[in-house]
Amino acid sequence: MKGVVWFRTDLRIDDNPALRNALDNCEEVIGIYIFSQLQWKAHNESNVKLEFLIKNLILLEKSLSKLNIPLITIKTESFDSLPKDLSSFVVSNKVGQIFWNNEFGANESKRDLLSCTMLEKENVKISRFDDQVIYEPGYLKTGQGKPFSVFTPFKRRWIENFEMDFLDINYKHSIKKPINIKSDLSKIEFVRIHSVNMDLWPAGESAAQERLSNFLSIKAESYSESRNSPVLDGTSRISPYFALGILSPRRCILEGLKLNNYEFTSGNKGICKWIDEIVWREFYRNIMHCFPRVSKNRPFQTHTENLEWRYSEKELQAFYSGNTGFPIVDAGIRQMLAEGWMHNRLRMVVAMFFTKNMLHDWRLGEKFFMENLIDGDFASNNGGWQWSASTGTDAAPYFRIFNPITQSTNFDPEGKFIKQFIPELNMLSSKEVHLPTTDLLTSFSYPSPILDLKSSRLRAIEVFKENNASRDA
Ligand SMILES: Cc1cc2nc3c(=O)[nH]c(=O)nc-3n(C[C@H](O)[C@H](O)[C@H](O)COP(=O)(O)OP(=O)(O)OC[C@H]3O[C@@H](n4cnc5c(N)ncnc54)[C@H](O)[C@@H]3O)c2cc1C
Repeated sequence: MKGVVWFRTDLRIDDNPALRNALDNCEEVIGIYIFSQLQWKAHNESNVKLEFLIKNLILLEKSLSKLNIPLITIKTESFDSLPKDLSSFVVSNKVGQIFWNNEFGANESKRDLLSCTMLEKENVKISRFDDQVIYEPGYLKTGQGKPFSVFTPFKRRWIENFEMDFLDINYKHSIKKPINIKSDLSKIEFVRIHSVNMDLWPAGESAAQERLSNFLSIKAESYSESRNSPVLDGTSRISPYFALGILSPRRCILEGLKLNNYEFTSGNKGICKWIDEIVWREFYRNIMHCFPRVSKNRPFQTHTENLEWRYSEKELQAFYSGNTGFPIVDAGIRQMLAEGWMHNRLRMVVAMFFTKNMLHDWRLGEKFFMENLIDGDFASNNGGWQWSASTGTDAAPYFRIFNPITQSTNFDPEGKFIKQFIPELNMLSSKEVHLPTTDLLTSFSYPSPILDLKSSRLRAIEVFKENNASRDA
């Protein structure tokens, strides 16, 4: 029988259950990737992520050709037109079975449902798998049978249910007999409009695996101490590879556990903490699946729906260009514009500044991040923004507002990170660099602060307090 593997956010050979099953069950296998420019835009996906996608598809095609599997890109208008285009490809190529790994976004789930209906009409067998998570979203439940909305009990249940068999991912692929269909990746058009240095993000599975093993052998041990400092760069930087599925979370967990005697909660603190972060990713996928309102531009905490956000075009433009006059915030934004990636500590600092001091709607910040990140991931990005805005799960209490200057002195004490991204401030001392005074600024091309930290903090607390009062009334 002829089978199709529909690649989506799983652009790899390693630990790819859909590919593995297709190889085991079909005589001939074709790989497809379906692309919609409109959908990419509608999801605010970035130009830099698109470049990374194309580079990874080219390398995936090379790896698949060694298994005699061609890779074909199919262009479709939108998710609405996709099921029909998929079905006609499958029918015209006389495909008997299709394999894919599940995606959990609201639009993706609807697309898959429609695709199933259409394929079933054509008597095509559908085989679906999970590769992004250990447990299918919604599977783990609280004692009351409800979905988890707090991370710590979720993680506890995640570990309690874990079986080492889940990590049975080392296997050899069979090679198929050659098929008379040629690979074709010509359908995705790309015009570069970003200015990210792509040397930071070598494409392909081997690069991703090398990054993983370098992290585990060099940085993992000290991860719990160094992860918060942007200047130490102590994190793995594997998120762009996760975002397109170049690397699987199971592979990361397995390789991490191997170095820690298969322990989740004791032994090497760095590895335990790092695996925790991968569980955070799974937690936000659960939230996205179990609380569909978060995919519809709505807050997780429904009582924050009517919060009165401010809107200032001038402040927004200053923020988007990294010119707020708060060096740590601006360095974070400028890192994202230059690297397509921002350190986690800074994502929190920047998002908190935006939603609390500027008191701007988290949805604008969420969109801005998606449009610029190479690792843009709806579930984690939405979760992170809603956490910072105190509208989400496990959210920061609204009155606990990060002070960007304190964050700066704590996590970049000498201002090395700031100076890397704001060279205008190179001449300042490690004391001055966190908030240059007005007289110093006159000699630099760096803006003065767009707001007053103290009064903007009080303003935010007041607005949140009023919102809570109207809920309780
Ligand atoms: C406002 C905001 C927006 C964010 N947007 C995204 C996004 O679009 N895409 C994205 O992948 N992550 C996002 N994150 C989470 C986190 O910042 C990144 O995953 C992390 O910085 C990636 O760097 P790393 O691979 O070096 O992480 P490591 O520290 O090496 O962690 C390993 C992996 O664990 C996961 N992880 C780590 N921290 C988190 C977290 N807080 N939430 C969920 N998963 C986590 C990631 O998959 C990461 O690659 C966001 C966080 C905030 C506060």
